[in-house]
Amino acid sequence: MAAYNGGSSAVAGSAAAVHTVQQHTSTPGQQQPYFPPSRRRQKQPPQQQPQLDIEPDRPIGYGAFGVVWSVTDPRDGKRVALKKMPNVFQNLVSCKRVFRELKMLCFFKHENVLSALDILQPPHIDYFEEIYVVTELMQSDLHKIIVSPQPLSSDHAKVFLYQILRGLKYLHSAGILHRDIKPGNLLVNSNCVLKICDFGLARVEESDEARHMTQEVVTQYYRAPEILMGSRHYSNSIDIWSVGCIFAELLGRRILFQAQSPIQQLDLITDLLGTPSMEAMRTACEGARAHILRGPHKQPSLPVLYTLSSQATHEAVHLLCRMLVFDPSKRISAKDALAHPYLDEGRLRYHTCMCKCCYTTSSGRVYTSDFEPVTNPKFDDGFEKNLSSVRQVKEIIHQFILEQQKGSRVPLCINPQSAAFKSFISSTVAQPSEMPPSPLVWE
Ligand SMILES: [Zn+2]
Repeated sequence: MAAYNGGSSAVAGSAAAVHTVQQHTSTPGQQQPYFPPSRRRQKQPPQQQPQLDIEPDRPIGYGAFGVVWSVTDPRDGKRVALKKMPNVFQNLVSCKRVFRELKMLCFFKHENVLSALDILQPPHIDYFEEIYVVTELMQSDLHKIIVSPQPLSSDHAKVFLYQILRGLKYLHSAGILHRDIKPGNLLVNSNCVLKICDFGLARVEESDEARHMTQEVVTQYYRAPEILMGSRHYSNSIDIWSVGCIFAELLGRRILFQAQSPIQQLDLITDLLGTPSMEAMRTACEGARAHILRGPHKQPSLPVLYTLSSQATHEAVHLLCRMLVFDPSKRISAKDALAHPYLDEGRLRYHTCMCKCCYTTSSGRVYTSDFEPVTNPKFDDGFEKNLSSVRQVKEIIHQFILEQQKGSRVPLCINPQSAAFKSFISSTVAQPSEMPPSPLVWE
């Protein structure tokens, strides 16, 4: 199977970051604020502990709520990704969202889910405005690969889908809904290892069906029909819908439901699946149900999925049809999808030469006893209950970051002397077009 890197515009051809190792002197008492630079000039108290500077190199991507740059870790010379979470302390909602994402990134321990390798040393709390998280650097993402001219074999589709579902099974076992699964949030390295990233919209599942959940989630092309139809409550099956759309996109190399508006999005879905039953629309809002019932009665046209490509075999289409189910309660789970025979080859390939859970000895490959591990206990979002003011959350996050670093490696901070520092600190969040568009207001 061919490796990928040419499809990536992200890192290919980049000049290596200057390896800056600038050891500061250690003086107990005060910390050196490295940010913002204007204040830094006015006031330069000595540092509390030795730090290493990290030098921003170049931007490689934009998530829903952050900017990602490639950098070189001066401790070991390894290239890593640095995510800047800006404007964290603007209001209580953004504080809580960032704290949740930070907690998740530190909680995750799974090969197919991006996690925090480190968090940069925060300055004194008076200067604490941004948070910088270090993660593994991945060369590309599934969006770049799908739109690239490189051939994608059925082996690629199988091993990518296997890893997406493997990561998702883990996230769902943690009680987490990702809520923005799309090709651009599936990072891929040159060995075809895939990691789910960007948890800016993720949250813990809501067991109480009477509690409303925001509909401002999931990029439109990958948005599940129940969200399009205004359901106030949804489950982790919204992520499976997105995976179904991505699976079809891997097979056909084009977006499955590419609509201009949320209404057209829903219409394209019913063109394929047929008019849903009243039962399948039970959680929809009245206006959305009326829209469906006003329209012509549509018959399902699922056989059209066989025309996606020559790779759309019976097994592939069978699994795809289990994901693209209108009724979320009847949609397949990540765990059950992994048991589908279509993924047997992907599993074998992944654990033969790509994973870190199995290893090779002189007498052969030693396989793990658990190919698709889950997490226990679940991710606990109980910490969110008592967060009541920006100042309080700021102090808690500051403390949380300091605690993460206790006893680990030499702390890192941004190098303000670096050539790219100015553009790095001024880079802000994603362009508005990359945010999930607002949902349709039916009523
Ligand atoms: Zn393995």
